[in-house]
Amino acid sequence: MAYYVGVDLGATNIRAVVADEDGTVIASRSDGTPRGPTGIAVTEAILRVVRETCSEAGIRPNQAVAAGVASIGPLDLAEGAVENPANLPDTIDRIPLTGPLSVLLDTERVYLHNDTNAGVIGERFHSERNPDDMVYVTISSGVGAGVCVDGNVLSGWDGNAGEVGHMTLDPQGLLTCGCGHDGHWEAYCSGNNIPRYAEFLYEEDDVETSLPIEDPDFSAADVFNHAEDDEFARYVVDQVGHWNAMGIANIVHAYAPLTIYVGGAVALNNPDLTLDPIRERMDEMVMVNVPQIELTTLGDEVVVQGALASAMTGGTGDRSRL
Ligand SMILES: [Zn+2]
Repeated sequence: MAYYVGVDLGATNIRAVVADEDGTVIASRSDGTPRGPTGIAVTEAILRVVRETCSEAGIRPNQAVAAGVASIGPLDLAEGAVENPANLPDTIDRIPLTGPLSVLLDTERVYLHNDTNAGVIGERFHSERNPDDMVYVTISSGVGAGVCVDGNVLSGWDGNAGEVGHMTLDPQGLLTCGCGHDGHWEAYCSGNNIPRYAEFLYEEDDVETSLPIEDPDFSAADVFNHAEDDEFARYVVDQVGHWNAMGIANIVHAYAPLTIYVGGAVALNNPDLTLDPIRERMDEMVMVNVPQIELTTLGDEVVVQGALASAMTGGTGDRSRL
């Protein structure tokens, strides 16, 4: 019997799953991502979670034939490591991943992806038609995409393709992105930035609103929750939808996907308010074929399921490679 391992390294949690040869998950464990002292502590925590997951599955780690790892970035693909992760403390400079996992699992078949590429691999693997051309977009604390074109999951030379959240959408650059540049998609539409954008629009217009704009805990959830009953909240949601549609239209023009799956906490918590404004604008914004735009079918599991699907299909999500 062949077994496969999927690992999701997030800024907050480490998650591992073990599946049998059909892809059925037979064990799953998670633990908090260590905040230091160095990257090696994170590597050791991952190895521990994988060992515990194998033990729960009743297998030895060397019975796993392949593993997929989905990780926060930025990645150094050649070295199989994370390099100076943006969302962990500065003392964590480098997190070795594929080398130590290869040793633990006694296999060379360890595939590393950023989390959005794992997302598109998972969606591809689990879609009925297993399409060659599709995109996974996450709208969460950041915005990013995993892209599969002509059956190839695009990674770029260093593994950092698909950073679409840092495409410049607003030529006026009214808002500054977390990366330091102005006018990026993510600066308007990520979960962290939607309340900042609402504050900006509020200061511009000084309208009546029941939104708790001044509250230090004012969040994207407040904006979406008031969209039904507050005109200003509805306006913010519509403007966010405008930028999302523009970003998605750019993706459509660049890659010609058949389907775009959207995931991430903002989309998962507010599927209609996120997807409808995008769908409504596609015909006017896109001059080529308009793809289907759907909520991810895998929910919160999309990244770890993508890591697992990568292990099973040689890093591709292509079911014909099973
Ligand atoms: Zn940016």
